Amino acid sequence: MFARKIAKKISDISGHMANIEVLIKELRKVLAPDQILLGEALQNRYDHIWSMDVSTLAAAAFLPRNTSEVAAILAACYHHDQPIVVHGGLTNLVGSTVAGAQEMIISLEKMNAIEEVDESSRSITLQAGVILEAAQEAAAEKDMLLPLSFGAKGSAQMGGVIASNAGGMRVVRFGMVRQMVLGLEVVLPNGQIISSLKKIIKDNSGYDLKQLFIGSEGTLGIVTRAVIKLIEAPSSRSCAILACAHYVDVVRLLKYLDQKLAGTLSAFELMWQNTYQALTSPPSNPRPPLTYDHPFYVLVEALGADPEADRARMILLLENALELGLASDAVPAQSESEIRWFWSIREEVEGMTSLCCNAQQFDISLPVAEIGPYVETILPKLHALTEVERVFSFGHVADGNVHFIVGKTDDSDALKHRINEIVYEPLQGSGGSISAEHGIGRDKKPYLPYARTEIELALMRQLRKTLNPKNNLNPGRILD
Ligand SMILES: Cc1cc2nc3c(=O)[nH]c(=O)nc-3n(C[C@H](O)[C@H](O)[C@H](O)COP(=O)(O)OP(=O)(O)OC[C@H]3O[C@@H](n4cnc5c(N)ncnc54)[C@H](O)[C@@H]3O)c2cc1C
Repeated sequence: MFARKIAKKISDISGHMANIEVLIKELRKVLAPDQILLGEALQNRYDHIWSMDVSTLAAAAFLPRNTSEVAAILAACYHHDQPIVVHGGLTNLVGSTVAGAQEMIISLEKMNAIEEVDESSRSITLQAGVILEAAQEAAAEKDMLLPLSFGAKGSAQMGGVIASNAGGMRVVRFGMVRQMVLGLEVVLPNGQIISSLKKIIKDNSGYDLKQLFIGSEGTLGIVTRAVIKLIEAPSSRSCAILACAHYVDVVRLLKYLDQKLAGTLSAFELMWQNTYQALTSPPSNPRPPLTYDHPFYVLVEALGADPEADRARMILLLENALELGLASDAVPAQSESEIRWFWSIREEVEGMTSLCCNAQQFDISLPVAEIGPYVETILPKLHALTEVERVFSFGHVADGNVHFIVGKTDDSDALKHRINEIVYEPLQGSGGSISAEHGIGRDKKPYLPYARTEIELALMRQLRKTLNPKNNLNPGRILD
């Protein structure tokens, strides 16, 4: 019996190797030698930007230059039942891009052309491999703003941000990627191309198909090109950091500033005390603009059109917030360089993450008012675990989104599961979500029922089966 099992395994492996050889031979007719990476050449491919020393186990990586090459690669993989994993900028935090020995990789990194910045329709058309920061810069050159921004902007690719419906720092004003995509081109797992690169905002001609692919984490198709909405660049940016004594003051402060800033509030980022301290003391680079004796710190930004009046208004609102007891301390940024300093506190998280061994990342959604009490409930439970060394909490709280990073002495699956249960269990039936913006990937898959009903999960499986019938594109991500 045992010998038969081993013989079957050997025959499966040799069958798979033969399949790979045929597939690669086919693709050599379409792709140049530098677009197919095998063996040694794969040694330098990473599974995540934070794991630069990790090599992938994948059998091959393909680097297409255009949509028809993506279609040819997917058609061949479909024909040969070959599992294939999509690589963008590899900044996801949910284990999505880790490729196993039976899988191949398709990386969009060579599809990095910005095709057009259209000033009249206020849009940018680009290939999926364009880095988010490059897209922001191209918009800025034409005096427009791509309002999407977050810490990984220098590595994340537009295809990756669309596939994961990224959020970031300015969702409170401009929404998530879902609200910014006007047109999309996608290649389905069987190689069929669906191109709808429209620049229009309104289109009620039936189902909005692009929305299916946004946030689908590459499980329904590969994004190859996109049209993204831009806005006219604001000519003024005011920024401040405030401290609050209680979480309820944070919620009141948000409501107050949102009212008084009349639609110009563009960021409201909360940091718990220990997080703020870690972000503003070595090994982090930024200095602290406020002392460490408050429980909460908020980074606030408003985008407007009149630099002097907007800065004066921000200062007046800070004074009022102090008088009304909504804040216990506050400091405005007095110059562009101070604005950059304040933002660096929230964006440069590497110093803080370096303090967390075996880090576990969380990305929870809850109604804004419930976030403080939720964090207060779970922190003591996490600290009660002897292996947990530190927990940093922070987040885009105006969007009802809180992040945690848990540092611990042990990387075992059993401990990970106990921590996951502490964090996710209270979310059942709460109207919250186990993922506000990072997605499900492979890591959060077992906990998906905490946020979705059986009927919703069944419908997701049905959709997956329709668009990815062989389940060979990004298998095992989101759902089994
Ligand atoms: C320091 C740091 C800060 C972060 N901050 C935020 C934040 O504030 N908000 C936020 O939302 N996220 C944040 N993230 C998470 C991450 O940056 C985002 O999820 C980002 O959108 C992923 O883009 P990527 O190009 O790196 O995609 P990858 O990590 O390469 O891939 C993500 C998923 O999309 C799939 N995919 C990639 N490209 C394509 C494509 N062209 N077509 C179809 N599927 C594709 C992959 O298979 C995978 O399932 C942060 C990450 C880091 C490291």
